[in-house]
Amino acid sequence: GGSWLARLRKGLARTGQSIGGLFVGVKVDESLFEELETALLMADAGVEATESLLAALRARVKKDRLEDASQVREALRDILAQHLAPLEKPFPLDAAKPLIVMIAGVNGAGKTTSIGKLAHAFQAQGASVLLAAGDTFRAAAREQLIEWGARNDVTVIAQEGADPAAVAFDAVNAGRARGAHVVMVDTAGRLPTQLHLMEELKKIRRVIGKAQGDAPHEVLLVIDGNTGQNVLSQIRAFDAAIQLTGLVVTKLDGTAKGGTLAAVAAGSQGVRPVPVYWIGVGEGMHDLQPFVAREFAQALIG
Ligand code: GDP
Repeated sequence: GGSWLARLRKGLARTGQSIGGLFVGVKVDESLFEELETALLMADAGVEATESLLAALRARVKKDRLEDASQVREALRDILAQHLAPLEKPFPLDAAKPLIVMIAGVNGAGKTTSIGKLAHAFQAQGASVLLAAGDTFRAAAREQLIEWGARNDVTVIAQEGADPAAVAFDAVNAGRARGAHVVMVDTAGRLPTQLHLMEELKKIRRVIGKAQGDAPHEVLLVIDGNTGQNVLSQIRAFDAAIQLTGLVVTKLDGTAKGGTLAAVAAGSQGVRPVPVYWIGVGEGMHDLQPFVAREFAQALIG
């Protein structure tokens, strides 16, 4: 239904001064563009995306001789949707069997919640799911996953104190042996300080490759939509270590940083524009939705 879209819209409306509000009862003049610039920067769209969006908007206003603020708002929606479109990509659930999906993200980003939502969604599509509790450093994370798996009839491969890469290796083999459709490998979001997270993740990726004959089919990074511009360095670091294939952006139901994805699409700060497979719009099981650029632009601009 439309309820999650409403929640996304409500969440993104916190984005600075609601961008849509800037168009109400105003003339199309330089001060409107200045206010838009401020609002986009406050929404963490970043300098590159903000400049490029506003340049495109100015050109459109001139070319189409737009005189009405509501027409300009529609034009901005359209331009933003085009700008975000390269990030839109359906998740290729049937690309392999089992599809091996490695999932990374810093603690608190919403990784465990998103894995649960994804397992649920995949099962609803008729796919059998196997989970690997690769965060062997956090006992609570492992237990949470095991408990969740038991409730939802999903097999969870876990081993207390084991090497995470070994758990991943076992899970891939178990997934093969059982004819699972999807194997999702959870990973740690933080390590005991003397260990290096990126080295750990590289090793897991490598070992999955050995079990699998190649590499994980999908390597996802879960990011908190509230993180703002720091998301760019996060994506860059994880991408360099484990070659991301997609993003899951959580907590968009309550963020003032809704412009971050515009910065990702613009390749700001040297980030590779990694596709956004899903967005999180709440804590419930169904609150994970495919990313659709046009819907997102509409929710952001109002
Ligand atoms: P992890 O440490 O990355 O595994 O994070 P968790 O999955 O435990 O999530 C951290 C917190 O964020 C929990 O309270 C979740 O309920 C919450 N959370 C996760 N995704 C969303 C979302 O899309 N929206 C909201 N509002 N909360 C979320």
